[in-house]
Amino acid sequence: MFEKVLIANRGEIALRINRACKEMGISTVAIHSTADAEAMHVRLADESVCIGPPPAAQSYLNIPQIIAAAEITGAEAIHPGYGFLSENARFAEIVTEHGLTFIGPSADQIRLMGDKIAAKQAVKSAGIPTVPGSDGGVGSDEEAARIARDIGYPVLIKAAAGGGGRGMKVARSEAELSMALTTARAEAKSAFGDDAVYLEKYLQRPRHIEVQVLADSFGKVLHLGERDCSLQRRHQKVWEEAPSPALNAAQREEIGGIVSKALGKIGYLGAGTIEFLFEDGKFYFIEMNTRLQVEHPVTEAITGIDIVREQLRIAAGSPLEIEQSDIVISGHAIECRINAENPFNFQPSPGTITQFHAPGGLGVRFDSAIYAGYRIPPYYDSLAGKLIVHGRNRNECLMRLRRALDELVVGGIETTIPLFQHLVREPDILNGDYHIHWLEHWLAARGS
Ligand code: ADP
Repeated sequence: MFEKVLIANRGEIALRINRACKEMGISTVAIHSTADAEAMHVRLADESVCIGPPPAAQSYLNIPQIIAAAEITGAEAIHPGYGFLSENARFAEIVTEHGLTFIGPSADQIRLMGDKIAAKQAVKSAGIPTVPGSDGGVGSDEEAARIARDIGYPVLIKAAAGGGGRGMKVARSEAELSMALTTARAEAKSAFGDDAVYLEKYLQRPRHIEVQVLADSFGKVLHLGERDCSLQRRHQKVWEEAPSPALNAAQREEIGGIVSKALGKIGYLGAGTIEFLFEDGKFYFIEMNTRLQVEHPVTEAITGIDIVREQLRIAAGSPLEIEQSDIVISGHAIECRINAENPFNFQPSPGTITQFHAPGGLGVRFDSAIYAGYRIPPYYDSLAGKLIVHGRNRNECLMRLRRALDELVVGGIETTIPLFQHLVREPDILNGDYHIHWLEHWLAARGS
């Protein structure tokens, strides 16, 4: 096992990784920008290195500085967390070229899954069902029109290099297609520096269901069940739960089995997530994330498996110690993303936290790096904390979530806590009856 790991991230996820390292007796190195000198992830790590000024491009994305920090401190491995450099294949390559271990899959696998067209083709040939659409990128508008006519409107234009819900455009008819293509290409070019786009059938009321996997270097692939991340705003997840209220045990086993087999064929290594849309009992692959995800704790809650610990073990060359049959789904878990934002119009609300009280008690986990007196810097994303609640069944989980939200106090800034206080009382949510557009419709109906 590694003796020292550098955590190339900030905020709650840096703390999360630090915790797993501490429990395994691994020393930790934090990196930080000048804006984060007082941050909790810096205080809790054994060592820290300032790697640049506040803008992420000059600090958390500054590869030479991060490699230098690892070399100076003698770290043997780098955990990228999520966001920042976690899905940057070149970074993974550079880490390896410097004789360090990248805690994640190989650069080739990151590159393959980062190109959404190539990823779709790769998983399709490995046996995973995909959304009907163009088999590769679309060239001319005429070609796009021909494919769209074939699959039927509405269609979704997606960026090959897309991510974070950006670069997607819906065309509801042929009349809208050419304009939507132009806008999607321009957006893709400016956001990702690549204007390649592809077409997919636009599903009307699907759920977003993703399967968590762990794969070791001995060819063993395990799936840890699914997460339902259908409550989204602008394609960004807001609330995640596991198991999905929409799946039965047979469907869970079936999709888990398909995913494990396919990733075995691809030779995947580490933790990963295969994301699907699920409509009328059918799964359609949309993308693979080759990293730890924000919502991994709901899976940890229902399986008892520490996913970060497994990532560290796998990266160090250890085999997974359990079999698929050892993984038992127990109870229900829900995560709410507590963002420093207005709860209904989602305007960012950075600033100083004047009061803070974390909820507690049985089945309650609050992953966060905030504290009273902490000033949320305006430079990074707005996630202030994650409230994860576990119960023996979904009803108990919802009741517990309701009381935990009422206990949580974050003063001085606006947060999304009031949004969840509403959601946890909504009949559709209580019934588990929602889809990926539900939240947008609900917000529009209340005039937000
Ligand atoms: P990104 O990488 O930008 O997150 P994804 O492909 O994962 O993009 O899609 C993000 C979200 O966009 C999905 O969770 C879903 O809400 C919506 N979406 C993606 N593909 C489709 C589709 N074919 N039909 C309807 N909605 C879609």
